[in-house]
Amino acid sequence: MSISFINFNELKDNDITYDFHIHTNQTDGQDSIETMIKASIENGLNKIAFTEHVRIDTDWFDRFAESVKETASKYPGIEVLVGAETKALDNYGNLDISETIIDKSDIILGSVHRIPDGRGGFLDFSALSPQKLAEIEFELSIGMLRNSPINVLAHPGGMYSSRYGGFPIEYFKELMMLSKENNKAIELNSRYIKNAYDFLYSCGEINPKISIGSDAHKAENVGNCTKLLSQFQYVDFQKERI
Ligand SMILES: [Zn+2]
Ligand SMILES: [Zn+2]
Repeated sequence: MSISFINFNELKDNDITYDFHIHTNQTDGQDSIETMIKASIENGLNKIAFTEHVRIDTDWFDRFAESVKETASKYPGIEVLVGAETKALDNYGNLDISETIIDKSDIILGSVHRIPDGRGGFLDFSALSPQKLAEIEFELSIGMLRNSPINVLAHPGGMYSSRYGGFPIEYFKELMMLSKENNKAIELNSRYIKNAYDFLYSCGEINPKISIGSDAHKAENVGNCTKLLSQFQYVDFQKERI
């Protein structure tokens, strides 16, 4: 598995026509593999990754990967990768995914989806103050960046952002610096990042590697993140490297 990402300040228009965060009706998405591929082509994308939700005991991954490859072979104009989205189980980078799936994936997204209670279970989000949730999400993300085999920190701050709006920018900055140190990409996610201006500004300052992901669960959302980047005129946030 060798996937590479481009640092934010080096991104050009040709580099942003992809979507590395796509779900299908294999898990909680609405549409089929083929529908998502067609939508990607219609939206001008030349590369996509199916990143289905997996767990340690997922037993359908091989079949799914096969059908992605089979379907993709009918559409030679687009490069199609198969990967997985997995969640953090603790602050030490342990993930809810098997080694087999990691080995067979082109790309692994690491996410915070649940808040581990430290005893093998999960806490209710409503039991946490906004500040506490931000802190916990930050720490789970640090663990994945430092100690796990993920390629991309997916929807950073997403659990906080979907409930309370923009994730604290200081946390974003630290996660960007850590992803750089650990040679991982941070996801520019059009679904969860609520303070896109500040996020992009920090990308320009820190220059992390970026993965573009819309977290599309239906055809109409494929390529959303590429659209967002163009709308925000990402080039205006890029800093000259000397
Ligand atoms: Zn997710
Ligand atoms: Zn997702």
